[in-house]
Amino acid sequence: MTGPGHLPERQEALLAVRELRKYFPVRGGILNRTVGQVQAVDDVNFDVQPGEVLGIVGESGCGKSTTARLIMHLIRADAGRITFDGEPVRPDDTAALREVRRRMQMVFQDSYSSLNPRLPIEDTIMFGPRVHGVSAKAARTRARELFSLVGLDPSQFIRRYPHELSGGQRQRVNIARALALEPRLLILDEAVSALDKSVEAQVLNLLQALRRELGLTYIFISHDLNVVQYMSDRVLVMYLGKVVEIGPTTAIYNRMQHPYTSALLSAMPSMDPDQRTETPPLVGDPPNPIDPPPGCRFHTRCRFAEDMCRHTEPGLEAAAGVQADGSHLVACHMRVAGSGHSLAPD
Ligand code: SF4
Repeated sequence: MTGPGHLPERQEALLAVRELRKYFPVRGGILNRTVGQVQAVDDVNFDVQPGEVLGIVGESGCGKSTTARLIMHLIRADAGRITFDGEPVRPDDTAALREVRRRMQMVFQDSYSSLNPRLPIEDTIMFGPRVHGVSAKAARTRARELFSLVGLDPSQFIRRYPHELSGGQRQRVNIARALALEPRLLILDEAVSALDKSVEAQVLNLLQALRRELGLTYIFISHDLNVVQYMSDRVLVMYLGKVVEIGPTTAIYNRMQHPYTSALLSAMPSMDPDQRTETPPLVGDPPNPIDPPPGCRFHTRCRFAEDMCRHTEPGLEAAAGVQADGSHLVACHMRVAGSGHSLAPD
């Protein structure tokens, strides 16, 4: 059995996340006391292998972005362990944390607010290396190399300000800035979601090329399931702060075993008639994360829910009979292979 918190820590993993938890306090009343807790991320476990792209999907509020911020230590976890490149990350060790942050970088959705509007973009890109002790001359040379690497002509762009660039150009600058400290892992949090479709395709192709050329590893977070399928080697599905399914992209998209994954994918637009599904899409909103349902958190929206689902939480277990190597895990009592239930339409 591979229950929550019991994933094997594969030696070769670049990033290992174990039992990660973050609850945000909800305050109220005239004394502003804590009256509840939003269970944003609850006992999340996964690995990221060097050179792979792990896609993370789920509805808004499922904990994707909070997980990313916890990995980057932009917010502090309540519990859990993160291991990067074989070393445990210790939030209290400032020097070690600074080095980890150098090797893990993040690109956000809002390309404009990620840049300092008062600085020419060359200075923005030089800032990180300068903070890490690189000379001004070397940092300037590196900035020009990075401009070329992300497809921007240094002679045209380097002294421009963020407001003088298009959204796609600004996101290229953000990618260049993220690469300035030669990271191993990039966390792309809805990084192409605000771009026009044609520009989005260009930036996705740029990311694929950079990954190949620089040997990068990505965590790719998006609400766009087509884009995640195009980019990812493996996909992790989150629901209400929990991982409900994880596996190779082809397994998740073609042989999903969790009813939530199935419903999520059924809403995915496709031009290919063979790819269309009759599975009913999700109905209703996710439950309140301050007071999530007991047992399986999906049971209030699941058409397969049984008594057991309402009081016993399912652990992540190998999707029997599909991926013999155990790379496909699902948190559902009624896994297809286990119970014979079908994700085909009623
Ligand atoms: Fe549905 Fe039960 Fe599986 Fe949860 S454990 S997804 S409620 S069948």
